[in-house]
Amino acid sequence: MLFSIAEIPTPQEQLKFLKHIQQILQSGTFTSTYKFALLISITRLAIEQGQDIGAALHLDYEDIAEKFIDLYWKQSLPFQFNQYEPFILQQSTGKQASIVNLIYQAQQQFKTIAAARRDNIFWIKLKKAVASTVKKMPVVYLQNLNGQTVEFLYQLEDSKQCLNLLPKVMFCLRQFSEIIEELCQKRWIDFVRLNKQNLGVLNGLPDLDEFMFAPSRNQLGRVADFLIDLQQCQCFYCGKSLKNTKYAVDHFIPWSLYPADTGHNFVLADEKCNLQKSNYLASEQFLQLWQERNHLHNQTIIREISQMGFLTDLQRSHRVADWAYKQAVENEYLVWLGGREKKILAQVYEK
Ligand SMILES: [Zn+2]
Repeated sequence: MLFSIAEIPTPQEQLKFLKHIQQILQSGTFTSTYKFALLISITRLAIEQGQDIGAALHLDYEDIAEKFIDLYWKQSLPFQFNQYEPFILQQSTGKQASIVNLIYQAQQQFKTIAAARRDNIFWIKLKKAVASTVKKMPVVYLQNLNGQTVEFLYQLEDSKQCLNLLPKVMFCLRQFSEIIEELCQKRWIDFVRLNKQNLGVLNGLPDLDEFMFAPSRNQLGRVADFLIDLQQCQCFYCGKSLKNTKYAVDHFIPWSLYPADTGHNFVLADEKCNLQKSNYLASEQFLQLWQERNHLHNQTIIREISQMGFLTDLQRSHRVADWAYKQAVENEYLVWLGGREKKILAQVYEK
């Protein structure tokens, strides 16, 4: 792989990059789930093939296709739910997404993705077919932000043979991979769930995201039962007893900043603290408390909360926190100090 020398992006450039990603995902013009798959695919490839430098990265379309097949293989299997007939999730608002059809056909011939992969001739053919759709569809439309094309990931004109990620993009994808993955998965699930063609069958289904991406469902009641023991029946923030009072599972790093459930992010708070904290980050003092708790009880949290189907990875959770507090400093967010007190987090945040 050939890298040209390039500086890593400044914090401002990285922030701008994230905002663009966010805009892509919020843009309501998706007609299929390909865009999510493309973002996840290039992020994973940036990790597998890239480095933490600011250089450009050239991605082979067949490598991207392989990631697509990985992502869609499970989702193209018939989804069986209670009395319903087995059902293939509709991944497009119009006709079924053609990549799903290609993979569905492959599944008639091969029981597993590993078996399909072992048939070299078949696998190359499948990859080429998927790559051709990737190139024609999501690569063309991904950078369309509500009607306006912003070429911040790659230049279409320059991406005929392979997908050429612009300088600094690889760095940002690696930097923010967890966030991009989680955001894409959430949006992907919402797209499938809200797709009218799926709605009749999927409405209220408890296990759709598990079916699609493995990490599982909200089980916050069980999380609360676990945390009440871990916190010895005290509010995480004010320390008051949770006996005879309403309490709630709180996302330490607010959902509005990072919309994914990870095991270490949960704390139990009384209703008052929960309402007052709302969508704010908690102050550095609480951050320290939270990090200490996670280190101290890491094994217990992993054992108990991962059983409930949540992603539990201390480093990952703490990296998300690092990111969130750095964002807070750079953007002068208000942080919650407890009670009614808030302040601007202006100090340099130190880990
Ligand atoms: Zn409290």
